[in-house]
Amino acid sequence: MAKVKPHYVKTCGACLEEFTTHKAKASRCPVCISENRKVTYRRCFECNVSFMITAPDDLNCGTCVEELGLEDQSQLSPEQRERFEVEEKRRLFVQKRDRLLEWLTQRDKARRTANLQPNQQNLTHLGLL
Ligand SMILES: [Zn+2]
Ligand SMILES: [Zn+2]
Repeated sequence: MAKVKPHYVKTCGACLEEFTTHKAKASRCPVCISENRKVTYRRCFECNVSFMITAPDDLNCGTCVEELGLEDQSQLSPEQRERFEVEEKRRLFVQKRDRLLEWLTQRDKARRTANLQPNQQNLTHLGLL
């Protein structure tokens, strides 16, 4: 008689659905394995270590959740929330600055090409050529 293999209930690292498996180390459900969907990793907000997320809004790794005494991985401690807001502001600032820089580069490029051709045209119009 065949030995009954143990069953593990796991959360798939790619689609985040629960699945049962015989493999203790399985990190993806059979569907994701066959469709070659990748496991979703994220850097922990606290310790910067990459961990497999269990929900789309996870911010902390399991270890930090325990250390900070949080209820789940999407929760932030009050200190973290402050830091999160600062980082969010900085991210928006960098985004804005990059867009401005991009705009300036485009404008300079447009000016440079505009300076190369139309000048000659202007001269023609003035009857100088
Ligand atoms: Zn899956
Ligand atoms: Zn962590």
